[in-house]
Amino acid sequence: TKRVFSGIQPTGVPQLGNYLGTIKNWVSLQQEKDTELFYSIVDLHALTVPRDPKQLRRETTEMAAALIACGIDPKRSVLFRQSAVAAHSQLHWVLGSITPVGWLNRMTQWKSKLHQQNAESEDAGSDEELQLNVHSSAAQGLLTGLFTYPVLMAADILLYRATHVPVGEDQVQHLELARDLAVHFNKTFKTKRFSPPTGMLTATKRVMSLKDPLRKMSKSDPNEQSRITLSDTDDQIVKKIKKAPTDAITGISFDPKARPGVSNLLSIYAAMKDVDAQVAAVEMREMSNAQMKEMVAQAVVEGVAPIRQRMRELMDDPAYLDNVLRDNEDRARETAEKSWQEIAQRVGLVCR
Ligand code: ATP
Ligand code: MG
Repeated sequence: TKRVFSGIQPTGVPQLGNYLGTIKNWVSLQQEKDTELFYSIVDLHALTVPRDPKQLRRETTEMAAALIACGIDPKRSVLFRQSAVAAHSQLHWVLGSITPVGWLNRMTQWKSKLHQQNAESEDAGSDEELQLNVHSSAAQGLLTGLFTYPVLMAADILLYRATHVPVGEDQVQHLELARDLAVHFNKTFKTKRFSPPTGMLTATKRVMSLKDPLRKMSKSDPNEQSRITLSDTDDQIVKKIKKAPTDAITGISFDPKARPGVSNLLSIYAAMKDVDAQVAAVEMREMSNAQMKEMVAQAVVEGVAPIRQRMRELMDDPAYLDNVLRDNEDRARETAEKSWQEIAQRVGLVCR
């Protein structure tokens, strides 16, 4: 049978990239019969950037509200907080103990953090030096958890023996590592326990920032103008889209390489309307940028408004959210604990 696992960090209200790149996929997978669905609010991952405990707790609840508002049915899907299931941390340790440092050094997300840090630090080393040396001065300011983040993600996925993992494009490399670790674990412990999971991407696998169309939209980007979130008001949505960068070419066309700003807006429009971006571009070909932006803004407002409304209602009922999560965490724990016992047995750790 098909089993899906995917996670989202409680680092703020979901932005359009989260929604169009993964959450919509999560919701539609609920239609499939016999597919088991595990969706996790990955609060352990969120710790890799230092955060205020109160804020983390609030944003975790907020994420639960957002996901249910988007259409995750907590009776159909197992919607749970990662830290409620201890086996994630346990398997993380076991996998970390067989992961060569070089595999993690290759991760582009880590490398870009390293570069960022490097740019801020005094004695900058060369690119190559950075890739190879976790002990470089740039790396001193970074946290171990950020480095081993992909190992925890592999543990999340493999713990449930997920066959399918819906993610955005930015997570494809991490998923590849999870596949490698599945094979590596099997070899190390002479077992067939894990099968490499398959990734699932949507047509909008990478929604770009509204400030810089060459970077991905992120919910934790310090610049709020760079993203549209599911709790933005109609007015905020319209304003942010109006200010999004475009180009000076006359007419509208879809060409992500040559016209990243315009194409990003077209992709957003197409995903909100469930149409093809190329087709939408042809329909809008004679429009000005301003006219195109009006269409995009209207489509986003129509899609986001009901979610925002529902999210607000849910946030007014924290007891309901807490109950739902607790129930689901019992379900997640049942599967995870069984899986962990088998892993512990195989590895030679204590099992019951
Ligand atoms: P953060 O800035 O805290 O990392 P994020 O917006 O990147 O937040 P995550 O919680 O890291 O969100 O990722 C949740 C899911 O959303 C992942 O599957 C990720 O691939 C996907 N995702 C994130 N940003 C985008 C984007 N811009 N376009 C498409 N998918 C995205
Ligand atoms: Mg992210």
